[in-house]
Amino acid sequence: MCHAFLTDANFYRLLFEIDKSLAEEVRTRGCDCGGRLHSARYPRKPRGMRSALDASDESRLSFCCAQEGCRRRHTPASVRFLGRKVYLGVIVVLLTALQHGLTVQRRNRLIEALDVSPQTLWRWRCWWRERFVQSRCWRALAGQFIPPLVTDCLPGALLERLRGQDLSERLVELLVLLSPLTTTTGSLRVGDNPQRM
Ligand SMILES: [Zn+2]
Repeated sequence: MCHAFLTDANFYRLLFEIDKSLAEEVRTRGCDCGGRLHSARYPRKPRGMRSALDASDESRLSFCCAQEGCRRRHTPASVRFLGRKVYLGVIVVLLTALQHGLTVQRRNRLIEALDVSPQTLWRWRCWWRERFVQSRCWRALAGQFIPPLVTDCLPGALLERLRGQDLSERLVELLVLLSPLTTTTGSLRVGDNPQRM
């Protein structure tokens, strides 16, 4: 395995810590109705690298307003779950970003290790090219890069402009930048078919 962090439980624990702090901001803010938020996690069964994951990765942090008559759902942004795709966000980003950056053999080994089908990879590539570039998140990001990012090379083009010292740090930075995509609570929704991604 050429990307050791992918099998390192500490890497996923770091992502979980970031998710917890994003969730804490939402919980502290409370509901618009003034109600308090109670934990109401969504069960998840993320695919790829199961051996490095633990029980904390089997749910998406989420809240429900405790106020009778409101009960509104508040799901914070996440650096772990990219929308409702069944693979963890880091895997979606990594495999599509490395499209041009690895030899065919190394890339195939990685795809095999992560058990991702060619159809799934294809859908992810379409998602970057067609859905992501229409999102508010992308429009906000795109203006910050000079020279402009080449949209055909997303997310790799974005990943290589970040400052992290190594690939895993840059991936975490990128997942943080993408996290607004992952919440519909007072934010945007990038239309995708949840079950097929
Ligand atoms: Zn409420």
